[in-house]
Amino acid sequence: MKTNDKIDAARIDLALAELRLGGIKLAWSTLAATADKEGWPAARFLAALVEQETAERSRRRFARHLEEARLPPNKTLDAFDFDAVPMISKARVQALAAGDAWLESGANLLCFGPPGVGKSHLAAALGFALIENGWRVLFARTTDLVQKLQIARRDLALEAAIAKLDKYHLLILDDITYVAKDHAETSVLFELISARYERRSMLITANQPFSEWGKIFPDQAMTLAAIDRIVHHATIFEMNVDSYRRKAAIETNRGAGRPATRATIKNST
Ligand code: ADP
Ligand code: MG
Repeated sequence: MKTNDKIDAARIDLALAELRLGGIKLAWSTLAATADKEGWPAARFLAALVEQETAERSRRRFARHLEEARLPPNKTLDAFDFDAVPMISKARVQALAAGDAWLESGANLLCFGPPGVGKSHLAAALGFALIENGWRVLFARTTDLVQKLQIARRDLALEAAIAKLDKYHLLILDDITYVAKDHAETSVLFELISARYERRSMLITANQPFSEWGKIFPDQAMTLAAIDRIVHHATIFEMNVDSYRRKAAIETNRGAGRPATRATIKNST
């Protein structure tokens, strides 16, 4: 490059940075060299620049949405063993991962089952796939979110806090039945559920089926009203299988050839 060219390049970089065209800023000089060498028509060069900017923006958007989602790491659909939960169809889950119909109508997804069967894994994996498809997701342990909402209520900002969650097309409430059982805690939860009803989707995981919720949450009438809203437009996955965690632990032990001295471990508990 000649000195003048260098000055021009620096000026272009500066202007691109100011215009927030980071994708073009990264790519233009290489593309310009190729274009000069291969004698590209101007429109082809421009198209290539625009393509770079679009790709860079969608990369950045994905990274931003992934970070804000707070998903537990490494839980993907690829890593999920569907053979372990024969009642759940992989095709069905893949269709849900596209998002479209159910997220647009604010429908819900419920995963029930005992601990260790993959409810949180499936929820996180679906969240990840949805983010890849351009949706916004928040994964929350229900107890943590309820704590935040209670603080908001104390500050007379509950409505605003719930409205802020509207930006998420899907709110994952993991372990809903772990919410501590006093009235104040459950009532913010139920306000959240009412606010999202038929507008914004939720994915709820629970160790106990609905039939037990009356015993878990303090207010029967409120619980029934909440269940009513949750199930009105919902897909339900009943994951009644053995704990994957326990099965995996047993298999690891077998694979490692547990020493004979520990072979009687099952009587020791
Ligand atoms: P739950 O939320 O139902 O208690 P988790 O989703 O936390 O269960 O699963 C427990 C552990 O077992 C996690 O490490 C998870 O990745 C793994 N796991 C559970 N089910 C499966 C599965 N079907 N395929 C792969 N890993 C699984
Ligand atoms: Mg879980």
